[in-house]
Amino acid sequence: MSISIALFTQDLRVHDNPVLRAALAESAEVVPLFVLDEGVDATGFAVPNRAAFLADCLTDLDASLRSRGGRLVVRRGEAVAETVRLAQQLDVRGVHLAAGVSSFAHRRESRLRAALGERLRVHEAVLTALAPGAVTPAGKDHYSVFTPYSRAWRQAERRGPVAAPRSVRVPAAVQGVAVPVVRPDSPGLPAGGESAGRRSWARWDVEAYQEQHDDLAGDGTSRLSPYLHFGCLSATELVALAERRGGPGPEAFVRQLVWRDFHHQVLAARPDAARADYRPRDDRWHTDPGELAAWCAGRTGYPIVDAGMRQLAAEGWMHNRARLLTASFLAKTLYLDWRAGAAHFLSLLVDGDVANNQLNWQWVAGTGTDTRPNRVLNPLAQAKRFDPQGSYVRRWVPELAQVPGAAVHRPWLLPRPPHDYPAPVIDLAEDRFTRGRGR
Ligand code: FAD
Repeated sequence: MSISIALFTQDLRVHDNPVLRAALAESAEVVPLFVLDEGVDATGFAVPNRAAFLADCLTDLDASLRSRGGRLVVRRGEAVAETVRLAQQLDVRGVHLAAGVSSFAHRRESRLRAALGERLRVHEAVLTALAPGAVTPAGKDHYSVFTPYSRAWRQAERRGPVAAPRSVRVPAAVQGVAVPVVRPDSPGLPAGGESAGRRSWARWDVEAYQEQHDDLAGDGTSRLSPYLHFGCLSATELVALAERRGGPGPEAFVRQLVWRDFHHQVLAARPDAARADYRPRDDRWHTDPGELAAWCAGRTGYPIVDAGMRQLAAEGWMHNRARLLTASFLAKTLYLDWRAGAAHFLSLLVDGDVANNQLNWQWVAGTGTDTRPNRVLNPLAQAKRFDPQGSYVRRWVPELAQVPGAAVHRPWLLPRPPHDYPAPVIDLAEDRFTRGRGR
């Protein structure tokens, strides 16, 4: 009887999973395999928040496969070596894998190809709605500006969702290890897994998204990013569901998924952008370990910045508007190297993603794809616009919880400033960004 392997990576789901479907179509028996590579962050294992979420994902995937007569086989070790060993032991017909975008994924794919040759089958458009490289501008290998990419994305042919399999047969002799129990760093971490992701989508009001997505206190975004990062939800399926609904909310939501595809196609073409400036601008970053530590700890003295950083620590997640303004504060106002900020985000974010994190950081820092690289988000103007009543700050900064209304954004003006809240680390008029570039 023929056997194939479905090697799961960032596609931890049974719905709309072309990797699993293709392995099942190829062979009577399939090994649904996940390799826990403890040294590698790409599998989410090195960071407690993502490791805990990943453990939920694996447990849930195992339950879904069991309800179809199968199970998940979890192995520990180096992903390529483990997969090739199993493929040889079982003399498999094929090993199926989703195409990835990071340099780690590229290396994994080419090593698997070297060992397995024609037996490796790589599937496109599993992690994104549109495959990186599916649309390109004339003479280039990727889009470097969002608007033309978005136009091309909308005109491109995309695959439709594939149904979840009804039954899965796994060879009885193949053994795995138990899913580890991991303690997250953040107490407010969401539950991981495809079932939790599908429940979150079903409960969320996409219709209100257009109006609410920038309201920090309203918290009206989908919070689906960790489910998308681990592939518990498929971008293809979410786009199809939103397009079926239509209207301003669903359209605005699809636009965010296009941003996600945009950053993935940039990273796929330029994997070095995970660390190197995408568009080097000769920055001479300021260095100040004390300021960096204050920013990480949410003690910059600017309440809206500190609220975002405290939400990150508490939930392993941060509202997009808060990510923008905290990142701008680090890279533009303090003019510290964006890589230090990105690394701190990646050490806590449950949705921490090389493509989305590094390229959004570069966008904010002015070294990436922003067509207005010199824009600076003033934290006080951002607070006035996106947290007008100060509710977001009071929720996350307990030292200021008793300060009413918008006064919470400028505690230094209070008749008696709270003694346990720091003074601002920098005067906003200093503008290190402009001076740092020598202009
Ligand atoms: P929603 O507003 O409901 O959007 C729906 C989905 O669209 C998100 O789940 C996400 O997958 C995608 N999306 C939304 N905005 C963006 C964007 N700007 N770029 C790419 N995809 C987007 N997102 C991550 O998934 N992982 C990261 O590590 C990450 N780091 C970021 C760092 C910085 C400095 C900034 C400014 C943004 C970062 N983002 C990252 C993008 C965005 O902030 C999050 O995707 C979003 O806040 C997640 O919340 P949500 O699921 O409620 O988003």
